[in-house]
Amino acid sequence: MKKSISPLFQSFIDLIFPRHCYGCSAALRFYENKLCLSCQISLPLTSLHLTRENPLYQKLSTRFPLEAATSLFYFEKEGVLSRLIYLLKYNGVYQLGTFLGEWLAEHLKESPFFDSIDGIIPVPLHPKRKRKRGYNQAELIAEAVAHLLKVPLYSEVLMRIRNTTSLVLLGEKERENEITAAIRCIKKIENAQHLLLIDDVLTTGTTLNACAQSLRKEQTLKLSIAVVGCRL
Ligand SMILES: [Zn+2]
Repeated sequence: MKKSISPLFQSFIDLIFPRHCYGCSAALRFYENKLCLSCQISLPLTSLHLTRENPLYQKLSTRFPLEAATSLFYFEKEGVLSRLIYLLKYNGVYQLGTFLGEWLAEHLKESPFFDSIDGIIPVPLHPKRKRKRGYNQAELIAEAVAHLLKVPLYSEVLMRIRNTTSLVLLGEKERENEITAAIRCIKKIENAQHLLLIDDVLTTGTTLNACAQSLRKEQTLKLSIAVVGCRL
């Protein structure tokens, strides 16, 4: 959303190289960035960051000690957000990671529950998948959040040691065991007390739970969670 060029110059550039909305493909106006206003308004913001014991916190805090939890949007199978996440994960539109991360960071800055965060950790992607995709989308989101909150990003702390691709056929417990075994904490973080785990979309919470468990095995930490979209 940051822009350094003037509106007049942007309008001129748009005439030659029209930019399109990633949500609905409409031509963007000079004051719009990545999404048209109508797609922006259609996104279901949660406001979960304004209440500590919100439904997401309640869902996750039964599994591990949690300071705070929020999601920028509610995730729906259809609609603008699922299109953005699809483009980010499977279509190489990596710029959406920064765009969504900056939006998430603005919400975290408005909340009193995330102001003692002193480090950010993205949910890891298996190295093979990261190589294939070219990036880890959770890391792009986390990078933008770390930049705006002015705290360090620790992207080499958690590692995915197993490529867990076909877990859909497994039962809930087996799935949880597989994911827990797939994530390892490979580095201790010095001088951090309250870390924020970041992912793109949270559905069951199993992956974030596995990340939290591996971190807590290595050191005593306060942990919070922020995601771009969640299903409750
Ligand atoms: Zn649109």
